Amino acid sequence: MLQQIALLEQLQNVDLKIHESQSKLNKIPDDLSQVKVQMDELYEKIERDRTTLKEAEKWRVEHEKAIDMQQALLAKSKGKLATARNEREANAAQREIDTIRRALSEREEEAIHILEVVEQTGESIKQKEDMYSKLQDAFKDMEVESGKQVEGMKTQVKKLETERKKIAKNLDQPTSLLYEKIRQRQPRAVVAAVRGTCGGCHMILPPQIYNLIQRQDRILQCPSCFRIVYYDEAITSGKGGDE
Ligand SMILES: [Zn+2]
Repeated sequence: MLQQIALLEQLQNVDLKIHESQSKLNKIPDDLSQVKVQMDELYEKIERDRTTLKEAEKWRVEHEKAIDMQQALLAKSKGKLATARNEREANAAQREIDTIRRALSEREEEAIHILEVVEQTGESIKQKEDMYSKLQDAFKDMEVESGKQVEGMKTQVKKLETERKKIAKNLDQPTSLLYEKIRQRQPRAVVAAVRGTCGGCHMILPPQIYNLIQRQDRILQCPSCFRIVYYDEAITSGKGGDE
């Protein structure tokens, strides 16, 4: 029975390593997709900026046309003033000129503002595009690196699985079945008793069960978590650590 427990421990060590490699393998696509999400978000922002820029450009062109039109009107009013035949006509022309000049100065102020928007948006697009291209490079590197890691881990898992088969074939079938059943719920299915408690769930083991465990002549389970509990003098006397 001692040999069976030793085999179970070996098997569990291999299984835990396989489990760890599988978790790492499963995590790789997550890490990659996180960077992809960042890239997609940034791309959306760039697209929004591009729309803003396009609108601002359109706005700027319309504004320039309006300024040209007002300048034409101003020239016309100036002509009216020059050819005024009396004071009344001269005053009317002057009022027109004043109104147009006020409107023009407002338009010109706004044109400066539009130019600022165009410049700032252009700058922001440039910055984001730089960032995007850096993310793209990082993503490519990550993909290559992950590919290598995946290959390495798959080879590792294959080796472990071969090792596992070698150990498992020496296990009694009932012990093997019991271990597999527990392992579906608990990756660590085999634990040592620690000072009269279960090394898995830390519940105090009933004395009669603990006595049987100490005899090391059969496979025994913790009545509370159902893990297989074995006796290890070094661990139970406190020289070994808690699991
Ligand atoms: Zn337990």
